Amino acid sequence: MKPIVIGNWKMHLTPSEARVFLRDFMANPEVFERADVTLCPAAPVIPVVADALRGTAVHWGGQNAHWEAQGAFTGETSMAMLADLGCTLVLCGHSERRRFAHETDADIARKVEQTLAHGMIPVLCVGETYEQRRQQQQDVVVIEQVRKGVNLLSAFPSLALYVAYEPVWAIGTGQTIEPADATAMARLIRSTLREVLPTGADSIPIIYGGSVTPLNVSSFVDGDAISGVLVGGSSLNPVAFHQLIAQLV
Ligand code: PEP
Repeated sequence: MKPIVIGNWKMHLTPSEARVFLRDFMANPEVFERADVTLCPAAPVIPVVADALRGTAVHWGGQNAHWEAQGAFTGETSMAMLADLGCTLVLCGHSERRRFAHETDADIARKVEQTLAHGMIPVLCVGETYEQRRQQQQDVVVIEQVRKGVNLLSAFPSLALYVAYEPVWAIGTGQTIEPADATAMARLIRSTLREVLPTGADSIPIIYGGSVTPLNVSSFVDGDAISGVLVGGSSLNPVAFHQLIAQLV
């Protein structure tokens, strides 16, 4: 299996800046054949990214979408809109959405379900806060988020789903978890998936996110428990992000 690398641009890079990024990022595209790379721009930037990446080995995805099909939800983006733009995956329940948009596990479960229903891969993001880890609650918290996040999936015969373990205290802080602790959490996520899903739990890729850089990326992706990375800050610089991917292939 190719290593999975997802770049989450968050609320960075305008359409014009994205064009410049893509020119530099795609200058040496060979590396992308050997990895499974997806860029997640902000919603208004997706068409620009899609136009530049169509026909290449790099995919694009959404950072978020609503679970309702359509309607009076000012400011929201629907799953159908992302699918129509060619998105292959959608981040569901990123910690910044949980925190700033007050998304609950129940909301996130509906997003996961609707992403799959629209033929895209949900990336269920889970992870404990600093305070929860300080109180040694990380296992309980993550098990609960995984259980609730996949709660509505019993009707799906095959589950094209990723789980991203992202300790909240490691996101955008430059602080990283010990790779062995990330692996242990990935194993716990796997055993939780086996408990709650009737089939298919073993084929769900688990990836890690939290201050991943070109220097530390190889220590997290072991090709066994952890199959890839979700990258924020280091995905904003085309040279650094290309270097990061090159470390894995
Ligand atoms: C993220 O946005 O999911 C993330 C992990 O960010 P960073 O790499 O900047 O910590």
